[in-house]
Amino acid sequence: MTGIMSRTLQTRFLRCFLAALLLLGSLSAIGHAQAERPLQSLTYRLSMSLPDTHLFEVSIEVELPKGDLPKSLDFQMPKWSPGRYAVFDFAKNVQEVEAIGGICPPATGLKCTLPSFPVTRVDDQTWRVSTMNTHSLTIRYKVFGNDLSGTFSQLNSRHANFNGGSIFMYVVNHKPDPVTLSITPPGVWRIVNGRTERDDQREWQFPNYDVMIDTPTEIAPNWTDDRFQVDGKTYHVVVHSFGDEGGKRPNLVRDIEKIVRAETAMWGPPEFDSYTFLIHFAADDMSGDGMEHLTSTQIIEPGALGEEGVYGSTLDTVAHEFFHVWNVKRLRPLELGPWDFTRPLNTRALWVAEGLTNYYGHLMRRRAGLWDDTAFMRRESQTITQIENAPGTRLMSAEDSSLSAPFIDGAPHEQKTNLDNTSISYYPKGELIGLVLDLIIRGKTNGRASLDDVMRRMYDEFYLKSPNASYYLRGRGYTTEDFQRVASEVAGFDLSDFFRRYVRGVETLPYDEAFANLGLRVIREQARQPYNAGIAIDWQEKDELTIGAVRSGSPAEDAGLQEGDEIVSLGKKNVSRENFLVSLARYKQGDRVPVSVKRDRRTIQATLVLGAPERFEYRIEERRDATSQQQALRAAWLKGS
Ligand SMILES: [Zn+2]
Ligand SMILES: [Zn+2]
Repeated sequence: MTGIMSRTLQTRFLRCFLAALLLLGSLSAIGHAQAERPLQSLTYRLSMSLPDTHLFEVSIEVELPKGDLPKSLDFQMPKWSPGRYAVFDFAKNVQEVEAIGGICPPATGLKCTLPSFPVTRVDDQTWRVSTMNTHSLTIRYKVFGNDLSGTFSQLNSRHANFNGGSIFMYVVNHKPDPVTLSITPPGVWRIVNGRTERDDQREWQFPNYDVMIDTPTEIAPNWTDDRFQVDGKTYHVVVHSFGDEGGKRPNLVRDIEKIVRAETAMWGPPEFDSYTFLIHFAADDMSGDGMEHLTSTQIIEPGALGEEGVYGSTLDTVAHEFFHVWNVKRLRPLELGPWDFTRPLNTRALWVAEGLTNYYGHLMRRRAGLWDDTAFMRRESQTITQIENAPGTRLMSAEDSSLSAPFIDGAPHEQKTNLDNTSISYYPKGELIGLVLDLIIRGKTNGRASLDDVMRRMYDEFYLKSPNASYYLRGRGYTTEDFQRVASEVAGFDLSDFFRRYVRGVETLPYDEAFANLGLRVIREQARQPYNAGIAIDWQEKDELTIGAVRSGSPAEDAGLQEGDEIVSLGKKNVSRENFLVSLARYKQGDRVPVSVKRDRRTIQATLVLGAPERFEYRIEERRDATSQQQALRAAWLKGS
């Protein structure tokens, strides 16, 4: 991705580029002709007659406009869906695709008899249906879904929970067309989503496909709906619990309201009339997620609400996802809508979209009164510790990390990678950029401006005041250069050096300068267990102490240890996952530690030669000499005034 292109590569690149231009020209000519004439009607029908099979049944009914008919229509499954940037190829779960001429009357469903139309699979994600010179046709298929997540879908005997991108094909060149979605639930199951207006609603209208798949939907007999109002807007806390709630739901709803109040206090009232927190307590120790949408969020906790730690973790996700109402869903990077689902997303701005949201998610828990200063500082200290100890920190910038999203955002890796050594996540890195940038702006302007002002100005300029750039949504997307310009304008000083060194570069963020402005400082301390010898434990392995990754240039690498090695003994004594760091802490710099590992069917003896301490912890603390002005700046930051 970086580096200098060779001459041959340049020539080859140029040739490909020209070929692509020609191809694009011809494609857009086709696309243009069809896009000018929207479909007369486009209706999605979803049913789920056999929940235990995990098969959603989808029919897409198309009425073509009068006049010249195209020979065929292409239907395509997205390769990925917004908010999670790994490529999953949803087409892999599609089965039994068929097409019929005409549209069955709604009540008859699958029983109506109309002639079959030819369907040809064109590529990995596309099915082509011949129109046979008629104005209406239906494509039907089943799609398997058995994952409870913010990206996939699940149908089983307990519920249906779907994210549209994983089950609905779009009609190629007709993503901008208005759509109707009609759902037939099994028996007495009730339907709810972020666009529900009536209790018994089964049909929805959406302005386009992109907004339809932005509306995750829950269908089950037994979800609950608690409501509250802020600024005249209705908030629904829809909960589907698979475990004991321990009587904590009323408190949870009350604390979610505090978060809503803190975040709307910063941004002003949101533009919707109602918003839905769709929360699952999966109680399977496995499913966990949070996904942002225009008028809802889908939150999945792996535990039961009554269990220790689940309550706080839910609020963490709520604070993050609700901030996305503004940052990402409306104020959005240029590439985030309308989307091209035929190839992975490429944007340099996920450190703004996700990283700054992470920062504010934590800050808002403080502003909402759910954390005290100490809890908030501890959380930010952990993030500093995480980033400063990550080997990839000196190799990958925040913008490179954003561009690597298809590889690092939940991507499955069958092939072994070196990403543990070379990558960082734009979530914690972006969080720290937000934190440091905020404190520098507050310090240099003496509290007259802050990152809050930058965010509001961005929202105003790009979402509220820009003319619509596409069919998808109000306003237009921004680039990271736009963000740099607006931040500099709001701050009143040039931030290009900051962006060059810390956003596009990999220099250590100027923590000292930033925290000093508010009478704080960052202490770097050797950890109590100062060595790991460059070994990251694979916690997925249930029992053995297995090496998950070896840090570049570490004692473990020098000793020839590898990912997958099972460590049997250290210093001639048996060692486990639990006491590995404690065992290493008995040694000091220069010590030679014998280690024995199992690799395949061999046992290998090696020696770890320990260098300087490797593990450090960072702690934000108050300076005793903080001036009253610095304390006032700090209070304004933490309380959001
Ligand atoms: Zn459910
Ligand atoms: Zn997020």
